[in-house]
Amino acid sequence: MPVDASLAEAWIREYASAVSAAKDELTRLDQAIGDGDHGANLSRGMTAAVGRLAGDTPADVLKLVGRTLISTVGGASGPLYGTAFREVAKALGDAGQAEDGAFAAALRAGLDGIVRLGKAEEGDKTMIDAWVPALAALDAALGSGSSLGDAAAEAAKAAAAGAEATTPMQARKGRASYLGPRSVGHQDPGATSTAMLFAALAKVAA
Ligand code: ADP
Ligand code: MG
Repeated sequence: MPVDASLAEAWIREYASAVSAAKDELTRLDQAIGDGDHGANLSRGMTAAVGRLAGDTPADVLKLVGRTLISTVGGASGPLYGTAFREVAKALGDAGQAEDGAFAAALRAGLDGIVRLGKAEEGDKTMIDAWVPALAALDAALGSGSSLGDAAAEAAKAAAAGAEATTPMQARKGRASYLGPRSVGHQDPGATSTAMLFAALAKVAA
């Protein structure tokens, strides 16, 4: 299924509503190893993004989402997610719709943007630990001929497993790293919200 502006909008709406429904859970996770603002931060940013949804191409839509997250969400996650959406948009260019492979490649450009900005590696207990397995699963499924909806469902599963796998990790980046060994035993909030991002994509692309 090619990704056009209306599918991009649907994805953002779905993600915003998932984040807002999970606001308390994300807050609780961030209270354990951070400052407790992740649910409120992201929910505020995504609500603002939904309020400004517009554009003729998927890139137009996602560029605006990125800009909105950067300007309305404080903390680490706003600039990180915001950069990801802006890089996705940049990679999509001005096409009216993106084929599945081009969309997967654009998502990878988004991950690269997060890594460039945040300098985290796999195993540092961050959102990267959900993004990396999600995109690997997405590429693998598309490579074996799955539809975007099925591939996104695989990506969502892998992202959720990646988020769960952050629990025994000790944080080496972001606010949670200040806790040192006390960050062990809690699931990373940003990896958890990333799993929701891929679940939202799976839902709208199904
Ligand atoms: P803050 O930590 O500033 O309060 P949030 O609570 O909104 O910001 O977001 C915290 C999440 O951001 C973490 O759970 C982690 O997934 C992600 N994060 C923090 N630092 C980095 C980084 N350097 N690279 C990637 N992700 C990061
Ligand atoms: Mg926080």
